[in-house]
Amino acid sequence: MSAFHKNSRLINNSKRIMSFINVLKRILPAETIQKGFMIEEKSCLDCNEIIHGRADKKFCNDQCRNNYNNQRNIDTPLIRNTNTILRKNRRILEELNPAGKTKVSRKKLLNKGFHFDYVTRLYRTQTNTTYHFCYEYGYLTLNNDEVLLVKKVDDFGK
Ligand SMILES: [Zn+2]
Repeated sequence: MSAFHKNSRLINNSKRIMSFINVLKRILPAETIQKGFMIEEKSCLDCNEIIHGRADKKFCNDQCRNNYNNQRNIDTPLIRNTNTILRKNRRILEELNPAGKTKVSRKKLLNKGFHFDYVTRLYRTQTNTTYHFCYEYGYLTLNNDEVLLVKKVDDFGK
């Protein structure tokens, strides 16, 4: 038998094996195949198509990888809106408090669109005074209409 015929017989055999596997894949429950009963196959994390190629591949191609990563990085509207408010709060405090400590009226903050209830952390002093912070800029509601603005230089020491 010539080398050519040997090769084409091998190809025919492997074609037959592949179609046999495809038949099994149709009739066996998916988990049987995934457990490695027949063959170790992984599907694309994005489109679920069977992946061909290296065993550690997770996606068919770059497009599937990009789709998957973009989906995962999409924030919900609540997260986006909250982040926007927090950033705006910080900007207002920074703008009104360039020296690091000052007093402003509550009304002035409200007029600029400040949201008093959106903060990144509370800071309670030993005398039980609670400062509200948006990142490094904080405020303390004083009596009447006054608000003390402060700036924290360190990172609160966690
Ligand atoms: Zn894919």
